Amino acid sequence: MAYLAIARKWRPHSFEDLVGQGHVVQTLTNAIRLNRVSHAYLFSGARGIGKTSVARIFAKALRCPNAKDAVPCNTCNECVAISESRSVDVVEIDGASNNGVEAVRGIRDNVAYGAASGNYKIYIIDEVHMLSLSAFNALLKTLEEPPAHVIFLLATTEVQKIPLTVLGRCQRFEFRRLTSQQIIDRIQQILKTEGISISEEGLRLIASHSDGSLRDALSLLDQVLSYFGGNSKKSDKDTLIFNDTQVVEALGISQTNVVSDYWKFIVHKDIKKLLALISEAYLSGVDLKHFAERCLEELRLLYLIQAAKESREDLTAEALDISSIHFKELSALSEKTSLIQLERMAQILSKTISQISWSSLPRFVLEVASVRMTKLDELDQFQQSSSHGGDKRPIMTDDGSATETEPSVLEKKEIKVVPKLEVIPSSQVEPEPHGERAENGGEPWKAFVEFVMKKRPLLGALLNHASFALEDINNGKNVTLGFGEGSFYEKQASDPKNIQDITAFLKTYFGPQSVLKLSNSETNAKQSLEKGRQAEEATLRKSALEHPAVSQAREIFGAEVVDVRVEI
Ligand SMILES: [Zn+2]
Repeated sequence: MAYLAIARKWRPHSFEDLVGQGHVVQTLTNAIRLNRVSHAYLFSGARGIGKTSVARIFAKALRCPNAKDAVPCNTCNECVAISESRSVDVVEIDGASNNGVEAVRGIRDNVAYGAASGNYKIYIIDEVHMLSLSAFNALLKTLEEPPAHVIFLLATTEVQKIPLTVLGRCQRFEFRRLTSQQIIDRIQQILKTEGISISEEGLRLIASHSDGSLRDALSLLDQVLSYFGGNSKKSDKDTLIFNDTQVVEALGISQTNVVSDYWKFIVHKDIKKLLALISEAYLSGVDLKHFAERCLEELRLLYLIQAAKESREDLTAEALDISSIHFKELSALSEKTSLIQLERMAQILSKTISQISWSSLPRFVLEVASVRMTKLDELDQFQQSSSHGGDKRPIMTDDGSATETEPSVLEKKEIKVVPKLEVIPSSQVEPEPHGERAENGGEPWKAFVEFVMKKRPLLGALLNHASFALEDINNGKNVTLGFGEGSFYEKQASDPKNIQDITAFLKTYFGPQSVLKLSNSETNAKQSLEKGRQAEEATLRKSALEHPAVSQAREIFGAEVVDVRVEI
């Protein structure tokens, strides 16, 4: 079967082929062009989004004798050897299988010798977080005094497991998950060459099941092709066509979107179908916490659509990275609800997600919360009538036991099943105060975002959504930011005022020479900023609501957020 190894066959061999990591590519190629290559790089991010591919392409760009302007030729012996992982001067180590200190000592003993040919000897360590502590210590010794010809390219899916001492020695790059559209575009490009066609909804299904990983998407594609037998093509000119139903059958997934149905039943107050849906999910072995999290993601989409509609702004399916069918469904639902109600639903469901984790009856927790969301109108009326009756009970209190009046039937149910929330003393919640330039133990970017967050929370929230590349320059840093292409955040970040403010923060924090670059910022700057502004505000509102300090406050005080003012 010729189609079995699409992920392998279409592995990117040049920076041009690489999807969605513009900020990384831009910074790395500039480093080569300006002869400012560092000794250690750390690539972090989810699996299957191009970290190892970038490491190999970068190694080629550094070692290819024919490379022009940081573009390797991909045909010389060295390029081919690196592509096939057999170059003697590009050593690939899998941290998962070589987590012993011996493997790293081997590196230490060998780095002293120059490359067999060319200028650079390159070590690519994949899944570097799997190294043992003693292996890390051995690695650190080499990172502290690296010989001029040695370059380390470290890749990890779990950057938080890397010792800060190692992080501090590396230039760090965070890789983004890909958007569904980026995945679909790449698959379509591949299918065209392979003489295969898949319906648009089929492609959407593949993309939405791959969780932002191109490698996973291509494996799913392989699964579809091999399920129906790639060799059923009669001649090279035939086009194989797959429809939605075939994709669903091959992937063994459900075509009807359970999560969409969940909200449909809640908004239409169809409790019978709602409970049946939860029951079905539970009995089919779905992890209910994961299910509730997916429902919350769906609620976010509904919320953004609602916010755009209430402020009479345009919002497109593309901007939300969903299919047009999905967008229409959600738009129809938004006719039946309001922003305030959706906010409350978000509040209830967020709380439910944390309760599910430690409840002995997770299904019941979800059932009660779900039914409660269908009763928001009734709860409102109850609250209104009770407030007329002189009751001072706070709205939507989280801690039922503290109420002075007889709780409603629904709340009684919840009290039975939900253990009382432990109130954390505020001294434990507040982060330790630190100085203007606290480095947060070698995590400069994180510390910088925290720094901005304290002064301008919404600008900080925006930076939180960026992937970044940090590059040291004299008395400062070169910071390249990447956002989801065409996302609200990207538009927000290309606002001249925000660029000015972020740059000012950078200079204060990292030094006067600091420079801000936005990946692909040119095209975005052309887009009208006023258009879609309300929708951006909605996103920022959401970010503000999601901000840890806000959610902690809500958790502790059982408070409801009445208004979020956007001042960016
Ligand atoms: Zn070459």
